[in-house]
Amino acid sequence: MKNIDILIIGAGISGAVLAERYASIGKRVLIIEKRNHIAGNCYDYIDENGILVSKYGAHLFHTNEESVWKYVNQFSNWYPWEHKVVARVDDKTVPIPVNITTVNRLFDTNINSEEEMKNWLEENRIAIESPSNGEEAVLNRVGPVLYEKMFKHYTKKQWDKYPAELDASVLNRIPVRYNYDDRYFSDTYQALPEGGYTKLFENILKNPNIEILLETDYFDVKDQYKGYEKLFYTGPVDRFFDFKHSLTEKLEYRSINFVSETVEAEYFQENSVVNYPGTEVDFTRIIEYKHFGNQKSDKTTVVCEFTVDDGEPYYPVPNPRNEEIYARYKTEADQLVDVHFVGRLANYKYFNMDQAFKNALDLFETLENKDKTNYKT
Ligand code: UDP
Repeated sequence: MKNIDILIIGAGISGAVLAERYASIGKRVLIIEKRNHIAGNCYDYIDENGILVSKYGAHLFHTNEESVWKYVNQFSNWYPWEHKVVARVDDKTVPIPVNITTVNRLFDTNINSEEEMKNWLEENRIAIESPSNGEEAVLNRVGPVLYEKMFKHYTKKQWDKYPAELDASVLNRIPVRYNYDDRYFSDTYQALPEGGYTKLFENILKNPNIEILLETDYFDVKDQYKGYEKLFYTGPVDRFFDFKHSLTEKLEYRSINFVSETVEAEYFQENSVVNYPGTEVDFTRIIEYKHFGNQKSDKTTVVCEFTVDDGEPYYPVPNPRNEEIYARYKTEADQLVDVHFVGRLANYKYFNMDQAFKNALDLFETLENKDKTNYKT
């Protein structure tokens, strides 16, 4: 066994950032990764149609965090990409998040100002002071008709739970717009890495102080690795503790079954992502990767997403029941010295890519007590 200072489990965002940070201060880092590739769920590759596709679903980077934006720009050029999503509802195609166009198309209204939109929402919404779950959050914003058409069944397909069974925060990810803004996000920085995320990760992990062991399950080899200064674990928290608090009540995760198809046409659909919030199909959305970065190919790759219970865990399921089970693991995790739980699965939190970058950077700063803005340029 070689001498290592820092052992990291998982080569996704959290693992890669911590590896890069520790390597930059001269630590010898070993990353143990179960899959046969780096980049976690951001992993992308050029497929048989010559199109850059993401193996685990589209990843749209957006952030208001100056420090995160500065950090990721060290490792890739980024081109501006303001993501848009449309939804097929009642044989119509409408923007999501709900904006003026969404309402006009679905209800044949003629709204054309912010004030009229606010009035329409006021007439339709059910005011709920502090929404305690996803259903109340949506009813409070847009009311029951849009709830039924755009949120209720999509959420059931995505989570196998109705919005009432999920925290308000899940549905609050989607805002409502009083104007014609049809962008999915409104952050200051919205961009994609030139050449893709895998290249970005290769660059983050370039330091020779970093060694990566792919296709290795940490739990099969952990006895071989002792004597390190710190361990960073980015896998599912319950797995770390051998599921000891989940014997009767399992911590829930959602996975996605991606069904990919080549279509012999220039384009299949008019937008990168088309959501299907109704009950007429079982999938949640169709992604056409060619749209990202306006890629060229005489064919096109489309991927239908079916969210499922079994399979690799992608999403924690935020609700009080799971929070309670997670709290039992967290209490134990907090007692471990020099073992740190980082990222979506280890923290059992549904956060975005930029938050994953930020959490890992912040953890490094806290542990090493370094000046936040002191990144190499
Ligand atoms: N959602 C919905 N209808 C949509 C899009 C989203 O009901 O057309 C709900 C659904 O519950 C989803 C949540 O809003 O899980 C957050 O959506 P987001 O696009 O952030 O999900 P992600 O891209 O992370 O899967």
